[in-house]
Amino acid sequence: MLVSAKEMLTKAKEGHYAVGQFNINNLEWTKAILQTAQELNSPVILGVSEGAGKYMCGFTTVVNMVSAMINELGITVPVALHLDHGSYEGTLKCIEAGFSSVMFDGSHYPIEENIAKTTELVNICNAKGLSLEAEVGAIGGEEDGVVGAGECADPAECKMIADLGVTMLAAGIGNIHGKYPENWAGLSFETLAAVSEAVGDMPLVLHGGTGIPEDMIKKAISLGVSKINVNTECQLSFAAATRKYVEEGKDLIGKGFDPRKLLAPGVEAIKATVKEKMELFGSVGKA
Ligand SMILES: [Zn+2]
Repeated sequence: MLVSAKEMLTKAKEGHYAVGQFNINNLEWTKAILQTAQELNSPVILGVSEGAGKYMCGFTTVVNMVSAMINELGITVPVALHLDHGSYEGTLKCIEAGFSSVMFDGSHYPIEENIAKTTELVNICNAKGLSLEAEVGAIGGEEDGVVGAGECADPAECKMIADLGVTMLAAGIGNIHGKYPENWAGLSFETLAAVSEAVGDMPLVLHGGTGIPEDMIKKAISLGVSKINVNTECQLSFAAATRKYVEEGKDLIGKGFDPRKLLAPGVEAIKATVKEKMELFGSVGKA
Protein backbone atom coordinates (compact mmCIF):
# COMPACT_ATOMS: atom_id res chain seq x y z
CA MET A 1 0.00 0.00 0.00
CA LEU A 2 1.17 3.50 -0.80
CA VAL A 3 1.54 5.90 2.11
CA SER A 4 1.78 9.66 2.47
CA ALA A 5 5.33 10.93 3.01
CA LYS A 6 4.33 12.85 6.13
CA GLU A 7 5.08 10.27 8.80
CA MET A 8 8.37 9.08 7.29
CA LEU A 9 9.61 12.66 6.96
CA THR A 10 8.52 13.71 10.45
CA LYS A 11 10.47 10.73 11.81
CA ALA A 12 13.45 11.60 9.61
CA LYS A 13 13.52 15.19 10.81
CA GLU A 14 13.35 14.05 14.44
CA GLY A 15 15.97 11.37 13.89
CA HIS A 16 18.37 13.62 11.91
CA TYR A 17 18.46 11.58 8.72
CA ALA A 18 16.89 12.00 5.28
CA VAL A 19 14.64 9.85 3.11
CA GLY A 20 15.66 9.57 -0.52
CA GLN A 21 13.33 10.35 -3.38
CA PHE A 22 14.39 8.29 -6.36
CA ASN A 23 12.74 9.09 -9.67
CA ILE A 24 11.34 6.22 -11.73
CA ASN A 25 11.16 5.84 -15.50
CA ASN A 26 9.93 2.31 -16.12
CA LEU A 27 9.34 -1.11 -14.56
CA GLU A 28 13.03 -1.93 -14.11
CA TRP A 29 13.72 1.35 -12.33
CA THR A 30 10.79 0.90 -9.98
CA LYS A 31 11.63 -2.72 -9.16
CA ALA A 32 15.30 -1.90 -8.49
CA ILE A 33 14.43 0.92 -6.07
CA LEU A 34 11.68 -0.99 -4.23
CA GLN A 35 13.86 -4.09 -3.80
CA THR A 36 16.77 -2.03 -2.47
CA ALA A 37 14.54 -0.19 0.01
CA GLN A 38 13.15 -3.52 1.25
CA GLU A 39 16.61 -5.10 1.53
CA LEU A 40 17.88 -2.15 3.55
CA ASN A 41 14.67 -1.74 5.55
CA SER A 42 14.47 1.90 4.50
CA PRO A 43 11.47 4.11 3.81
CA VAL A 44 11.45 5.36 0.21
CA ILE A 45 9.80 7.95 -2.00
CA LEU A 46 9.33 7.16 -5.69
CA GLY A 47 9.41 10.37 -7.72
CA VAL A 48 7.56 10.76 -11.01
CA SER A 49 7.93 13.86 -13.16
CA GLU A 50 5.09 14.81 -15.46
CA GLY A 51 7.26 13.82 -18.42
CA ALA A 52 8.02 10.40 -16.91
CA GLY A 53 4.32 9.94 -16.15
CA LYS A 54 3.48 10.60 -19.77
CA TYR A 55 6.26 8.22 -20.88
CA MET A 56 4.88 5.45 -18.64
CA CYS A 57 1.44 5.85 -20.28
CA GLY A 58 -0.20 8.13 -17.73
CA PHE A 59 -0.43 8.57 -13.98
CA THR A 60 -3.05 5.84 -13.55
CA THR A 61 -0.73 3.31 -15.19
CA VAL A 62 2.02 4.38 -12.80
CA VAL A 63 -0.21 4.02 -9.72
CA ASN A 64 -1.34 0.58 -10.82
CA MET A 65 2.16 -0.61 -11.67
CA VAL A 66 3.68 0.58 -8.40
CA SER A 67 0.81 -0.71 -6.24
CA ALA A 68 0.84 -4.11 -7.93
CA MET A 69 4.60 -4.34 -7.60
CA ILE A 70 4.46 -3.57 -3.87
CA ASN A 71 2.05 -6.51 -3.47
CA GLU A 72 3.81 -8.94 -5.79
CA LEU A 73 7.26 -8.26 -4.32
CA GLY A 74 6.00 -8.30 -0.73
CA ILE A 75 7.31 -4.82 -0.01
CA THR A 76 6.59 -3.89 3.62
CA VAL A 77 8.68 -0.71 4.03
CA PRO A 78 6.79 2.60 3.70
CA VAL A 79 6.57 3.69 0.04
CA ALA A 80 5.25 7.07 -1.10
CA LEU A 81 4.45 7.68 -4.76
CA HIS A 82 5.20 11.34 -5.34
CA LEU A 83 4.70 13.74 -8.23
CA ASP A 84 7.93 15.67 -8.84
CA HIS A 85 7.67 19.35 -9.88
CA GLY A 86 3.98 19.24 -10.70
CA SER A 87 2.10 21.97 -12.50
CA TYR A 88 -1.21 22.92 -10.91
CA GLU A 89 -3.18 20.80 -13.42
CA GLY A 90 -0.71 17.91 -13.21
CA THR A 91 -0.99 17.90 -9.42
CA LEU A 92 -4.77 17.60 -9.61
CA LYS A 93 -4.45 14.74 -12.13
CA CYS A 94 -2.07 12.81 -9.86
CA ILE A 95 -4.37 13.24 -6.86
CA GLU A 96 -7.20 11.88 -8.99
CA ALA A 97 -5.04 8.95 -10.20
CA GLY A 98 -4.16 7.83 -6.65
CA PHE A 99 -0.68 9.22 -5.92
CA SER A 100 0.00 9.33 -2.17
CA SER A 101 2.12 12.47 -2.34
CA VAL A 102 2.46 15.43 -4.69
CA MET A 103 4.73 18.39 -5.28
CA PHE A 104 3.23 21.57 -6.61
CA ASP A 105 6.02 23.71 -8.00
CA GLY A 106 4.69 27.24 -7.95
CA SER A 107 8.17 28.76 -7.64
CA HIS A 108 7.90 30.44 -11.05
CA TYR A 109 4.69 32.26 -10.07
CA PRO A 110 4.69 35.54 -8.16
CA ILE A 111 4.58 34.68 -4.44
CA GLU A 112 0.88 35.72 -4.13
CA GLU A 113 -0.15 33.28 -6.86
CA ASN A 114 2.09 30.53 -5.45
CA ILE A 115 0.31 31.05 -2.10
CA ALA A 116 -3.20 31.03 -3.63
CA LYS A 117 -2.65 27.82 -5.61
CA THR A 118 -0.75 26.10 -2.79
CA THR A 119 -3.60 26.94 -0.37
CA GLU A 120 -6.17 25.24 -2.61
CA LEU A 121 -3.97 22.15 -2.87
CA VAL A 122 -3.33 22.04 0.90
CA ASN A 123 -7.10 21.77 1.41
CA ILE A 124 -7.48 18.98 -1.14
CA CYS A 125 -4.45 17.02 0.14
CA ASN A 126 -5.48 17.34 3.79
CA ALA A 127 -8.95 16.02 2.99
CA LYS A 128 -7.43 12.99 1.25
CA GLY A 129 -4.52 12.39 3.65
CA LEU A 130 -1.86 13.07 1.03
CA SER A 131 1.46 14.82 1.57
CA LEU A 132 2.18 18.03 -0.33
CA GLU A 133 5.55 19.54 -1.18
CA ALA A 134 5.84 23.20 -2.15
CA GLU A 135 8.79 25.08 -3.62
CA VAL A 136 10.12 28.55 -2.95
CA GLY A 137 13.03 30.01 -4.90
CA ALA A 138 13.58 28.20 -8.19
CA ILE A 139 16.11 25.39 -8.10
CA GLY A 140 18.70 25.90 -10.78
CA GLY A 141 19.74 23.67 -13.62
CA GLU A 142 17.28 22.49 -16.20
CA GLU A 143 13.80 22.78 -14.76
CA ASP A 144 10.99 22.94 -17.32
CA GLY A 145 13.55 23.52 -20.03
CA VAL A 146 14.91 26.65 -18.36
CA VAL A 147 18.56 26.46 -17.33
CA GLY A 148 19.54 28.69 -14.43
CA ALA A 149 22.03 29.10 -11.62
CA GLY A 150 20.91 27.93 -8.17
CA GLU A 151 18.73 30.61 -6.59
CA CYS A 152 18.55 31.19 -2.85
CA ALA A 153 15.07 31.27 -1.36
CA ASP A 154 13.83 34.15 0.80
CA PRO A 155 13.31 32.72 4.33
CA ALA A 156 10.30 35.03 4.90
CA GLU A 157 8.61 33.66 1.76
CA CYS A 158 9.45 30.11 2.92
CA LYS A 159 7.67 30.79 6.19
CA MET A 160 4.60 32.15 4.37
CA ILE A 161 4.32 28.96 2.30
CA ALA A 162 5.14 26.65 5.24
CA ASP A 163 2.41 28.29 7.33
CA LEU A 164 -0.18 27.30 4.71
CA GLY A 165 0.12 23.75 6.03
CA VAL A 166 2.19 22.00 3.38
CA THR A 167 3.95 18.80 4.48
CA MET A 168 7.45 19.61 3.26
CA LEU A 169 9.20 22.50 1.62
CA ALA A 170 11.79 22.66 -1.14
CA ALA A 171 13.83 25.82 -0.83
CA GLY A 172 16.52 26.85 -3.28
CA ILE A 173 19.87 26.98 -1.47
CA GLY A 174 22.17 27.18 -4.47
CA ASN A 175 21.39 23.59 -5.51
CA ILE A 176 20.74 22.74 -9.14
CA HIS A 177 19.32 19.83 -11.13
CA GLY A 178 21.55 17.62 -13.24
CA LYS A 179 25.35 17.67 -13.16
CA TYR A 180 26.99 20.49 -11.24
CA PRO A 181 29.31 22.80 -13.20
CA GLU A 182 33.03 23.03 -12.35
CA ASN A 183 32.63 26.54 -10.95
CA TRP A 184 29.63 25.77 -8.71
CA ALA A 185 29.71 27.86 -5.53
CA GLY A 186 28.33 25.05 -3.31
CA LEU A 187 25.26 24.98 -1.10
CA SER A 188 24.39 28.13 0.83
CA PHE A 189 24.27 26.88 4.42
CA GLU A 190 23.53 30.43 5.54
CA THR A 191 20.29 30.34 3.54
CA LEU A 192 19.50 26.83 4.74
CA ALA A 193 20.02 27.76 8.39
CA ALA A 194 17.84 30.88 8.00
CA VAL A 195 15.07 28.91 6.22
CA SER A 196 15.25 26.14 8.80
CA GLU A 197 14.87 28.62 11.63
CA ALA A 198 11.96 30.36 9.88
CA VAL A 199 9.95 27.18 9.22
CA GLY A 200 10.58 25.31 12.51
CA ASP A 201 9.60 21.63 12.38
CA MET A 202 8.79 21.53 8.67
CA PRO A 203 10.89 18.91 6.83
CA LEU A 204 13.01 20.55 4.12
CA VAL A 205 13.71 19.04 0.73
CA LEU A 206 17.00 19.14 -1.13
CA HIS A 207 16.60 18.83 -4.88
CA GLY A 208 19.45 18.11 -7.27
CA GLY A 209 21.16 15.55 -5.03
CA THR A 210 23.48 14.33 -7.81
CA GLY A 211 27.06 15.41 -7.33
CA ILE A 212 26.71 17.31 -4.05
CA PRO A 213 29.76 16.30 -1.96
CA GLU A 214 29.03 13.93 0.95
CA ASP A 215 30.09 16.39 3.65
CA MET A 216 27.66 18.99 2.27
CA ILE A 217 24.84 16.40 2.24
CA LYS A 218 25.55 15.54 5.87
CA LYS A 219 25.66 19.18 6.88
CA ALA A 220 22.40 19.87 5.04
CA ILE A 221 20.73 16.98 6.93
CA SER A 222 22.02 18.37 10.23
CA LEU A 223 20.38 21.70 9.33
CA GLY A 224 16.91 20.24 8.73
CA VAL A 225 16.91 18.59 5.29
CA SER A 226 14.80 15.41 5.60
CA LYS A 227 14.18 14.51 1.95
CA ILE A 228 16.79 14.40 -0.79
CA ASN A 229 15.91 13.98 -4.45
CA VAL A 230 18.10 11.75 -6.59
CA ASN A 231 17.41 11.39 -10.29
CA THR A 232 20.37 12.06 -12.58
CA GLU A 233 22.73 9.80 -10.62
CA CYS A 234 20.62 6.68 -11.26
CA GLN A 235 20.39 7.62 -14.94
CA LEU A 236 24.17 7.98 -15.19
CA SER A 237 24.89 4.67 -13.45
CA PHE A 238 22.26 2.84 -15.54
CA ALA A 239 23.69 4.28 -18.77
CA ALA A 240 27.30 3.48 -17.85
CA ALA A 241 26.52 -0.16 -17.00
CA THR A 242 24.44 -0.63 -20.16
CA ARG A 243 27.19 0.95 -22.28
CA LYS A 244 29.77 -1.41 -20.77
CA TYR A 245 27.62 -4.47 -21.54
CA VAL A 246 27.18 -3.45 -25.16
CA GLU A 247 30.77 -2.28 -25.65
CA GLU A 248 32.01 -5.61 -24.34
CA GLY A 249 29.87 -7.23 -27.04
CA LYS A 250 27.86 -9.22 -24.51
CA ASP A 251 24.63 -8.62 -26.40
CA LEU A 252 26.18 -10.58 -29.29
CA ILE A 253 27.05 -13.65 -27.20
CA GLY A 254 24.38 -16.38 -26.94
CA LYS A 255 21.08 -14.87 -25.91
CA GLY A 256 22.75 -11.71 -24.63
CA PHE A 257 20.27 -9.67 -26.66
CA ASP A 258 17.41 -10.83 -24.40
CA PRO A 259 16.10 -7.59 -22.83
CA ARG A 260 16.13 -9.22 -19.40
CA LYS A 261 19.87 -9.83 -19.83
CA LEU A 262 20.60 -6.57 -21.65
CA LEU A 263 18.99 -4.45 -18.92
CA ALA A 264 20.27 -6.48 -15.96
CA PRO A 265 23.62 -4.68 -15.46
CA GLY A 266 21.83 -1.31 -15.54
CA VAL A 267 19.34 -2.51 -12.94
CA GLU A 268 22.19 -3.69 -10.68
CA ALA A 269 23.85 -0.29 -11.13
CA ILE A 270 20.67 1.52 -10.04
CA LYS A 271 20.47 -0.74 -6.98
CA ALA A 272 24.07 0.09 -6.05
CA THR A 273 23.45 3.83 -6.42
CA VAL A 274 20.26 3.70 -4.33
CA LYS A 275 22.06 1.68 -1.64
CA GLU A 276 24.93 4.15 -1.53
CA LYS A 277 22.49 7.07 -1.16
CA MET A 278 20.37 5.40 1.52
CA GLU A 279 23.52 4.71 3.53
CA LEU A 280 24.71 8.30 3.10
CA PHE A 281 21.30 9.76 4.00
CA GLY A 282 21.06 7.54 7.10
CA SER A 283 17.66 5.99 6.24
CA VAL A 284 18.87 2.35 6.40
CA GLY A 285 16.97 0.39 9.08
CA LYS A 286 14.52 3.26 9.62
CA ALA A 287 11.45 1.70 8.00
ZN1 LIG B 1 13.72 19.11 -8.39
